[in-house]
Amino acid sequence: MRKGIGIRKRVMVTGGAGFLGSHLCKKLLELGHEVLCVDNYFTGTRDNIIELLDEPHFETLRHDVTQPLSVEVDEIYNLACPASPIHYQYDPVQTTRTCVHGAINMLDVAKRVGAKIMQASTSEVYGDPDVHPQPESYRGNVNPIGPRACYDEGKRCAETLFFDYYRQHDLKIRVARIFNTYGPNMHPHDGRVVSNFVMQALRGEAITIYGDGTQTRSFCYVDDLVDGFNALMNAPDDVTGPINLGNPGEFTIRELADMAIAMTGSDSKLTFEALPEDDPLQRKPDISKAKKLLGWEPKVPLEEGLQHTIDYFRQMVD
Ligand code: NAD
Ligand code: UDP
Repeated sequence: MRKGIGIRKRVMVTGGAGFLGSHLCKKLLELGHEVLCVDNYFTGTRDNIIELLDEPHFETLRHDVTQPLSVEVDEIYNLACPASPIHYQYDPVQTTRTCVHGAINMLDVAKRVGAKIMQASTSEVYGDPDVHPQPESYRGNVNPIGPRACYDEGKRCAETLFFDYYRQHDLKIRVARIFNTYGPNMHPHDGRVVSNFVMQALRGEAITIYGDGTQTRSFCYVDDLVDGFNALMNAPDDVTGPINLGNPGEFTIRELADMAIAMTGSDSKLTFEALPEDDPLQRKPDISKAKKLLGWEPKVPLEEGLQHTIDYFRQMVD
């Protein structure tokens, strides 16, 4: 399974103990690489990577990316940043610092050692979009002073930094714009809609719909996304992105609630709460670029991915 010395790449995953990072670390080890997981454990947990800790080619480092770092690696996936609105709004200044200083520090590592670096950007760079579905050419509709701005503008600035290091220092960069992704290893209390609805349904609690539930999102299963990360990292160097990675299937939040109830066999009722400020009304990726340049598109339908997610959360409730 493992590749021999010389072929094995040294790969750093920042935010490696988080939801997406933990799946990515596992995949990279399966592919035969050496993995350094860097995390400050703000929203991530060692439980997410516990099965990897005995792997001889897996290493962890407790480190905050807002501080400089010196490591020798061939590739960097920069995922460190809280992704759930309740977590990134808990300390908004730190969120901007993580996005911006974190990007500078990791780009400086890449520059010093000549590593290839991928940024986990987000569909939030499109804000509350007035173009639908969102292609990469759309420049977005972000409120720069609202409660989501620490994350949205932080991620936009990180993209700017990636392209400036690319132009100014000739770095090998990749920028992935990730749309809502879900699956096992999401934190059960991180406040995102899939984990909230599944946990509430499993516990027989009221399902909290914010607004009237007609807002839409497109949900990508984590395994598909990680395949997309790999395809992007291994693409030719002129494929810098930004490139949308997500599942174009579009669902209302009300539809998701109904699915969570039906698939868990729950008798939970719906409860309607205020829509958070600046909550985007619709979101769906245009993935033509990913299909054409990476030959990638998601394969896992929502119902199948939700079943895996329900199975994961059920162990916590039982
Ligand atoms: P997550 O909160 O589960 O993981 C983020 C990880 O980063 C955690 O392990 C956390 O402890 C770590 N972290 C946070 N601040 C840090 C810092 N200053 N230094 C070091 N580590 C730090 O979130 P996730 O869903 O796994 O998201 C990973 C990345 O993907 C984030 O950059 C996020 O913005 C991006 N993203 C995710 C989604 C999604 O739907 N999951 C969508 C768009 C973008
Ligand atoms: N949402 C909801 N109930 C919840 C959590 C979220 O109705 O318990 C809504 C939220 O208002 C938003 C959508 O679900 O319209 C997706 O929210 P999430 O926090 O998962 O991601 P994001 O808003 O960043 O896309």
